[in-house]
Amino acid sequence: MLDIVLLGSGGGMPMPHRFLSSLLINYKGRKILVDCGEGTQVSMRMVKWGFKSIDLICITHGHGDHILGLPGLLATIGNSGRTEPITIIGPEGIENIINGLRVAVPYLPYGINIIESPKKLLGISVLLKGMEVREIIHEDFINKDMVISTLELDHSLPCIGYSLYIPRRPKFYVEKAIFNQVPRELWKRLQNGETIIYKGRTYDPSMVLGDKRKGIKLSYITDTRPINTIPDFIKGSDLFICEGTYGDNRDLKKAIKNKHMTFAEAAKLAYEGNVKKLLLTHFSPVLDEPEIYIKNAEDIFMNTIVGYDRFTKTLSFSC
Ligand SMILES: [Zn+2]
Ligand SMILES: [Zn+2]
Repeated sequence: MLDIVLLGSGGGMPMPHRFLSSLLINYKGRKILVDCGEGTQVSMRMVKWGFKSIDLICITHGHGDHILGLPGLLATIGNSGRTEPITIIGPEGIENIINGLRVAVPYLPYGINIIESPKKLLGISVLLKGMEVREIIHEDFINKDMVISTLELDHSLPCIGYSLYIPRRPKFYVEKAIFNQVPRELWKRLQNGETIIYKGRTYDPSMVLGDKRKGIKLSYITDTRPINTIPDFIKGSDLFICEGTYGDNRDLKKAIKNKHMTFAEAAKLAYEGNVKKLLLTHFSPVLDEPEIYIKNAEDIFMNTIVGYDRFTKTLSFSC
């Protein structure tokens, strides 16, 4: 199970009723923050999910509306008593940007590990002290709590999208293990995906496990034009969070010029990616009531929600 709260749904500048881009994810009591625009920590205070348990921060790009909340938030996390390091992932150039912002908060009681422009999948393990982030080697993701992948987007700065996948282990069948004459002492290791040679016989996980089961997938795409690598990247997402900077179809020219999307373009991606639900966010400051344009998205992809600050949702395994 995964809980999300959209802390800020605005693009450009913060408005009285709308803070800037930020999403908070809660998994097993540990937190991942995606983007940190102005207002993020105010919104976090309102939802009361806590600051100390943020282990990982994923930044899409270096525009102010996605990162200017970071120095203040890092200081607040420090005041919460955290001493364990935090990992920050971001596109090319993120280390420079973080170092610049750190001038305002030079002394923090915890370290920061930066992963710039990751080329491999990242596996997340939830440990007692928090989340551990490691590159995935040998496709061993069934033993990871979560897998994060990134995609280069088309914006006016280097920008990456994120997808988070929580794998679900196949069911363990005692009957199957007994039927296949698998020694009891090997059950646990086979359940963990190991193949074992024992007393001259090879045992593999399929001898004790059922069929593959679908996990939970969440994807987050902002800011970008709708490039053709996105549908594959978001394929089958339970929730696809996507920028819809402009609601009105007549703003397409502006969207192209400013490297953003209209609601209709985001909906087309949702349709092509065969996702379950689309959550629109990152609204232009002039878009006072984005919900009045929902039909422009629904005409293409029915299962659309127009996001708002502190919109919350729980994603669960399907069956
Ligand atoms: Zn933006
Ligand atoms: Zn931007």
